[in-house]
Parts: sequence; C-alpha cells; structure tokens
Amino acid sequence: MKENRVCNFNAGPAALPLPVLEEIKDSFLNFNGSGMSVTEISHRSKWFDDVINDAVARTKRLLNLDDRFRVLFIQGGASLQFCMIPMNFLGQGQSADYVNTGTWSAKAIKEVQIQGKTANVVASSEDKDFSYIPGNIPFNSDAVYAHITSNNTIKGTQWAEFPDTKGVPLVSDMSSDIMSRPFDVNPFGLIYAGAQKNIGPAGVCMAIIREDMLEKVPDSLPSMLKYTTFSKKDSMYNTPPCFAIYTIQLVLKWLEDTVGGLEKMDGINRKKADVLYSIIDSGDFYRGTAETGSRSLMNVTFRLPSEELEKKFIQTALENDLGGLKGHRSVGGCRASIYNATGLEAIETLADFMKTFEKENG
Ligand SMILES: *Cc1c(COP(=O)(O)O)cnc(C)c1O
Repeated sequence: MKENRVCNFNAGPAALPLPVLEEIKDSFLNFNGSGMSVTEISHRSKWFDDVINDAVARTKRLLNLDDRFRVLFIQGGASLQFCMIPMNFLGQGQSADYVNTGTWSAKAIKEVQIQGKTANVVASSEDKDFSYIPGNIPFNSDAVYAHITSNNTIKGTQWAEFPDTKGVPLVSDMSSDIMSRPFDVNPFGLIYAGAQKNIGPAGVCMAIIREDMLEKVPDSLPSMLKYTTFSKKDSMYNTPPCFAIYTIQLVLKWLEDTVGGLEKMDGINRKKADVLYSIIDSGDFYRGTAETGSRSLMNVTFRLPSEELEKKFIQTALENDLGGLKGHRSVGGCRASIYNATGLEAIETLADFMKTFEKENG
C-alpha cells in the first residue's frame, strides 16, 4: 500500500489538480454550509445552481465564447456524442465530412454508418498508421458539418492548427485536449469532450454547441438524445451528474484563478511536452511514434528498442512511483499522458528516470 501520491501519467481517467482534490475532500461532508455533501443535495437547489452556473460561466470566459454558444453537460461520454451528432444534424439525403486520424475518429464514423447516413471520409492518415495529421483536405461545401478529432489520445497526434472548411461548421472531439490551449471558436458548430481526460472525472461530457446547429435538430428524436432538450433545460431536464459537474467547476476555477487562463496553460503544456520530446529526439534509444509536425502536447507516445525493454521500462517506472506509462492496449509501446493537471515537476521526474533508464539499458 502506498502512503504517497504517485506521478500520474494515466490517459483517462487521468490526474486531477491536487488543490481540486483537496477542496473536494475538505468540503465533502459539509458543502458550502449546507450541512450535506454535494452528492446529497438537490440538483434544483440554490447550492447546485451556483455550481453549474459557475462551471458554464468559467467555460465561456476561458474559451472566449459569445452568446451564440451554449455549454451543455450530457452523460454517456464522448462515445454517445459519436451517435448523437449524426442523429441531430444529418437529415435525409444529407452528408457530413469526417477526417479519420485513428481509433476515435473511426468510431465516430461508424456511428454515422450504423444510422444508414453518409460520412464522407475526406482524409485519413491510415496509410502511415495514423502517425500524422493530414493537410490540404478537400472538404465538401455541401457537407452539413466537418468532423475532426483534435487530439488523438492513442496515437499521440494533435492538430496544431484547425483546417479551413470554408464555412462548413467544424465539429470536434476535444476529449483529450479541451482547455489545454486557446483557439478561435468561431468556425466550430459543436465541440465535445468526455471530462475524464482534461477537465474532471468520468460520467459527464461537455458539449459546446452553436445556436445555428440547434436549428437542425429534429423534434422526432427521443428527449434524452436531443441537444435541444439539454439546451432548453440548461442541462437539467433530468438529474445531471452533479458530482462530476462540481469537479469540473473546481478544475475550471483552478485553471482560471490559479493557472491564469489558457494562454498560461498552453505555455506550461508546451514546456512539459518539450522536455519529453527532447529526450526522445536526443538519441536512438527512445523513438517517437508520431511525425514531428503532428506531435501531441497531451499524449507523448514512444517506443523502446524492444518490447522486452518496454515492459521493463513500464515496470521499473512503476517501482519509482511513475504510473500509467503503458501505451494503449491496441498499439503497445509507451505513452506519457501529460494533461493540464500533470505539473512540470512530474515531467522532470519522468525525464530523469528516462535518462537513467537509457544509461542502464542502452
Ligand atoms: C477517451 C476518448 C474518447 C472516449 O470517451 P468516452 O467518454 O469513454 O466515451 C473519445 N474520444 C477521444 C479523443 C478520447 O480520448
């Protein structure tokens, strides 16, 4: 049994900021003077109202969202969004563009096809094992939306800049890089993110939807599968995942008030990624799996000279309190997920470990 906390490089659910965990612990038995835990109060109470309203307000400030955008909280994870997107936006005879950059994009595409609708795969990086982000993409001007995965958690690639879709609304799965950097929200019709990577615990997905997209939603859908239901009822048509939303609120407060916003966060994230990629690039022992220009600042994926050494690396790291460095089960290798909550000190500890491991095994 461990007495201490470890350096956590898990891909998701992932590390949360320590001050957030401490605040949850301190207020758990008596939330805001209510004499009850946040998990015991009504979602219709003033206490919870303040929580969800603050989470929305902070999201709007952090991402610079104007009044056209609604911030929604939906259960079912990012995976339910794969299905809700075509269900809500694609009518008879219409089609959407999809860029296939790996597992999560492929799953999003599959959900369109299950519904008997058309996903035009306008670009794919499958030819090189999803090691890069495609460029010069021939988007269709009559597509209802164009879907991308902003950060590919498994393959360790990330869009450095978003593509120009010439007015077609962009839809992005930002599960593993939302709130990690500032960007222009204007081209986006919908942004969604399962919370458990960068902004909170599992159990809720943040969906940021632009009002013109809400107009596409057919009345005929079941209430719980319509964006309009969540929008009209401020995510409280039914009982929302209160505890998960509360944790998101605290994470966003930390991001805004302690870190100082997304520009600052981006600066820190770049420094963190840089430390690890410089070690990877310094010799032949570690080998990055993503092309240099497409590298993710959130998930650093790499291989060692043999699978045996990879196993030893992951095991020895664990013995040194560095957890979560195993690559996704579908690809193997190693992966350090370095989301917002994983600080520079943890990265430096990992960097030292990597150098030592190379010296002893290279
Ligand atoms: C983890 C992940 C998902 C899956 O999210 P769930 O909330 O488990 O459905 C989807 N997309 C990306 C990019 C992810 O990293």
